[in-house]
Amino acid sequence: MATPLEYSSIETIEDSVSCLRGAFISGKSRLVTWRKYYIQRLYDLVKENEDRFYDALAKDMKKPRLEAFIGDISPVLEECVYYLDNIDNLMKDKKVKARSRVTNATATNVIRKDALGLVLIFGAWNFPLQLTLIPLVGAIAAGNTVIIKPSEISAYTSALLTELFPLYMDSNMYRIVNGGVDESTALLTHHFDHIFYTGSTRVGKIVMTAAAKHLTPVTLELGGKCPAIVTEDVDIDTVAQRIAFGKFYNGGQACVAADYVLIHESQLDAFIASFGRTIKKWFGDNPQNSQDFARMISDTHFDHVARLVNSRESGDIVIGGGMDRDEKYIAPTLITNLDYSESVLMGDEIFGPVLPVLTFKKIRDAVNYVNKKHAPLALYIFSKNQKAIDRILTTTQSGGVLINDTLMHQAEYALPFGGIGHSGMGNYHGAKSFDTFTHERSIMVKKQRLESLMGVRYPPYTAKNLSL
Ligand code: NAD
Repeated sequence: MATPLEYSSIETIEDSVSCLRGAFISGKSRLVTWRKYYIQRLYDLVKENEDRFYDALAKDMKKPRLEAFIGDISPVLEECVYYLDNIDNLMKDKKVKARSRVTNATATNVIRKDALGLVLIFGAWNFPLQLTLIPLVGAIAAGNTVIIKPSEISAYTSALLTELFPLYMDSNMYRIVNGGVDESTALLTHHFDHIFYTGSTRVGKIVMTAAAKHLTPVTLELGGKCPAIVTEDVDIDTVAQRIAFGKFYNGGQACVAADYVLIHESQLDAFIASFGRTIKKWFGDNPQNSQDFARMISDTHFDHVARLVNSRESGDIVIGGGMDRDEKYIAPTLITNLDYSESVLMGDEIFGPVLPVLTFKKIRDAVNYVNKKHAPLALYIFSKNQKAIDRILTTTQSGGVLINDTLMHQAEYALPFGGIGHSGMGNYHGAKSFDTFTHERSIMVKKQRLESLMGVRYPPYTAKNLSL
């Protein structure tokens, strides 16, 4: 099918970069009235076109309307409101009490919250509004000029955003560049003051390498396999539902999806039974007919998950396993009896509605398994045993942790969100986004008086002034 998204011509990229860099120097993007006005415009862009975005998200991946509201529309609106309410406070200079030093006796110190300059933001397709516009709100609030590069994979949503963006936003300050690998590569040859990238670890490395050539700092919001560890003492129906939510929301295509489960062996059978009941309750006898279950975003993504499920080394399919390539549909699936080290399902991030479930006897074994892999973006622990929870926390690493639920910590914007190691670097959301796109510029102001006292530091260095 032809893509509805028109790619930017590579020749215009240089022009966009130099236009927005010049615009930054004009100082306009740093005016508080300007920042507030365009945050409000961004709010209007999303709010006034909400229904069109639901349609576009449904065309891209049959995203259910409520999931589109929770995952794309509402986070952007809420972030705009947060900044409109808090920007004055966030922008305030921070006064710093001086440490005593005679030669700075007349000084006052402040940390000024300066914009970084021209920022480049790469969005991702799975939540194409949230993952493109949330960093944009923070970058505007901090006073930067910005180029956004939405994902070409969520083509309908990105095309709609591209149509609306110049109608609401000032193109001399905020611009969209569209395209795939060639256009992204062309963008990355330019100097930016910050690059904010959401996507795979593989491309994250490419972005960081390109940024290093200009000494550009980066924020990388990447992926990984997020484990859910389930200990012996749990309410199994609650756990099954909360893990099912963390696996089937957006068709399993979330960076913080529960990728796999490590469950105490005593709970395996009860978990499988409860998980099966949950699928039936939520999606009916044939989930393919459900309006509440999303599709794989593309044939390529479908093929990746299908290959994992159909591989001989996968394990035993206990629930689901069905698929339909014409509809990019993969059934909610649970697989057990996997070989820890051999199963293809335990290699790369699955990014689909397929849940491998492995068992452990001792917490130590679960922790060892998690630690064999790169630190994940999220770690989920289901337990009522505080000692077990503490033990897991002190012996593992992850971007974030959620105890007794899945996904919901990502939606709490009072918490910074980001990865560690292969799952990313830097973080954002709410006030943290403002920090991400801000340079703390230390400013000391001195008076031109008391020169005789200040003069003790000047040569010639006599014994007298050295003692001072
Ligand atoms: P991707 O990294 O393959 O593609 C992202 C974008 O990078 C593409 O749209 C393309 O424009 C660009 N790109 C691709 N190849 C490139 C190249 N060789 N050179 C330059 N640019 C290139 O990622 P994806 O499939 O869109 O996303 C899936 C991954 O993103 C998963 O691992 C997921 O966990 C992660 N993710 C992370 C977060 C987060 O917040 N941490 C959110 C969503 C997705």
